[in-house]
Amino acid sequence: MTAPKIIRTLAELRTEIARWKAAGETIGVVPTMGALHQGHLSLVRAAKEGCDRVIVTIFINPKQFNNPEDYENYPRTEEDDARKLTPLAVDVVYVPDGTQIYPDGFATTVSVDGITDGLCGAHRPGHFDGVATVVTKLFTQSQADRAYFGEKDYQQLQVVTRLARDLDLGVEVIGCPTIREEDGLAMSSRNLHLSDRARTWAPELNRAMEEMAEGLRGGGDMATLRAEAIARIERAGFTEVEYLDLRAADTLELMGSLDRPARLLAAAWLAGVRLIDNIAVN
Ligand code: AMP
Repeated sequence: MTAPKIIRTLAELRTEIARWKAAGETIGVVPTMGALHQGHLSLVRAAKEGCDRVIVTIFINPKQFNNPEDYENYPRTEEDDARKLTPLAVDVVYVPDGTQIYPDGFATTVSVDGITDGLCGAHRPGHFDGVATVVTKLFTQSQADRAYFGEKDYQQLQVVTRLARDLDLGVEVIGCPTIREEDGLAMSSRNLHLSDRARTWAPELNRAMEEMAEGLRGGGDMATLRAEAIARIERAGFTEVEYLDLRAADTLELMGSLDRPARLLAAAWLAGVRLIDNIAVN
C-alpha cells in the first residue's frame, strides 16, 4: 500500500485532472475538513465504487465558521488522515492552502435562499454562504462528475444539491447514510472535543430523537412528544437544545403532522460542544 498523493496547488491538481479527462475517466470528489473518521471513509468507499478516479479534499474553510474560536480549535490531523486514506487507494488528497481557494481580492459569495432559513442556518449566521461558496469552488476545481456528502449534515446536503442544480455545475450530488458509533452517536470530528464524561451522555440525543420518531409514527401528539424529547436531552446533561424540528425531507419546511416524507433534525450543546443529528421518520 502506498500513501495517497497529496496535492496542495490548483495548478498541480489541474494537470492530474487533464490526464484523467483525456482518458475519459470519471471523477468523484469527497469534500471534508479532515479529522477523518468512519463517516468520511464511507463516503470515500462510495466514491471509489462509483467513479474511476477519486479526489478527497481536506480544507478547513474559514468562511463557514461563524465563531473564530471554533475555527481555531477545529482538529487538524493531516498525517493521521493520510494514513487512514492509504488502504482506500484514493487517487489524490487535495489539501489547498487558503490562497488556492480564496486568492487575493476574492469577492464572490454563493448564497442559497429558502432552504437555508431555518435550522443551522438560523443559528449560525453566514455558515451556509461559506459552505455554498467553498463547495462551488471545490466542484469547479475538481471538475468532478459526482460528489459525495453525508446525510449527517442533512441541511448541508440539501443546500449543495440545490446549488449544483441551480448553477448547472454538472456534478451529481450523492447523499450517503449517517455512520454511527455503536451507542448511536453520529460520528463527527467534533466528538473529539467531548470529555470522557460528556461522551457517555452524548448518545441520549439520538435516543430521544428515535423515541420521538417512534411516537410520531404511532400517531402521538407532536407538541407533547417534542417536549418529552427535549426534557430527556436536557436531563442527560445537554445545556441547550437549539432546535428539534420535524421537517419535510426535501424542502425542509416545518411540518405539524406526518403527512409527507419527513426528517427529524436536532442541534444541541453538550459541555461546550455543538452536536447535530437527524433521522428519517417515515
Ligand atoms: P466535515 O469534515 O465534517 O465537513 O464532513 C465532510 C463530509 O463528511 C460531509 O459530507 C459530512 O456530511 C460527512 N460526514 C460527517 N460525519 C458523517 C457521518 N457520521 N456519517 C456520514 N457522513 C458523515
